[in-house]
Amino acid sequence: MNVESVVFETIDKYNLLSEADKIAVAVSGGKDSMSILHVLSSKYNNITALFVDVGIETFSDESFEIVSSFCSSQGIPLKLVRLKDVLGFTTPEAVSVIGGKPCTTCSVLKRYVLNKSARGFDKLVTGHNLDDAAESILMNIFKANMSSLASLGPSSGIMHDNKFVSRVKPLYFVPEKEVLHYAVNHKLPFVSHPCPLRGDSPFRYYVKQRLNALEKDFPNVKRNIVNAFLKFIKGKSLNLKKLSYCKYCGEPSSSDICNFCKIRLQVERSLKNVR
Ligand SMILES: [Zn+2]
Repeated sequence: MNVESVVFETIDKYNLLSEADKIAVAVSGGKDSMSILHVLSSKYNNITALFVDVGIETFSDESFEIVSSFCSSQGIPLKLVRLKDVLGFTTPEAVSVIGGKPCTTCSVLKRYVLNKSARGFDKLVTGHNLDDAAESILMNIFKANMSSLASLGPSSGIMHDNKFVSRVKPLYFVPEKEVLHYAVNHKLPFVSHPCPLRGDSPFRYYVKQRLNALEKDFPNVKRNIVNAFLKFIKGKSLNLKKLSYCKYCGEPSSSDICNFCKIRLQVERSLKNVR
């Protein structure tokens, strides 16, 4: 697969980016985000890499080191944002207070900080690939979770709001194994070991395993799931909830207290008890 062509066709077809856009690319140091940063930087000039340091010992530092040396070798501006500086606590600190799945907590915190840090940019690019899309579509169907379907396409599909930076996924039609080939063939540096806090949610892991098994027997099943989904939502109003604002932090949210503030309140309560 020619990854570059697929990415640029996706950008054209879904109108994801324009030459005039100020583009932020969320970069974690993994193969997906490093690859999309590399592909886009060959065509777009106005690109900044955005790295969120979630404060996971050694892992976050190693990831930042990889991103930072790559960006300076390519002349790509890099913005570093530390959870600790913005929120006053790190992912491991939040997880130790509220328990539950580390990846869920981490992604809420990261999403919040990314959206804030990307303000002033026209688009926020993420490294979601075809496998991520097919898994998420199936997971939402299995849970009959229709409200988040709107965010599962190549662009975030959220109603326009000047506090919300539009998210786009140019790797949407590129399978994970093709992204890996691209990264390896182009000798891109990337973090290859998994995050030490990572426990894929058992449900996502289950869906991923089954999908990979299906793909072996029915090649293109992932692509077909995504295509069927896109055909299904085309032209439909997905009853997007009107975006409202969190009563605590004022950030865009679909309920009156955003997911981030739910975590923040628990963490702050527990820190107060300790003191
Ligand atoms: Zn909030």
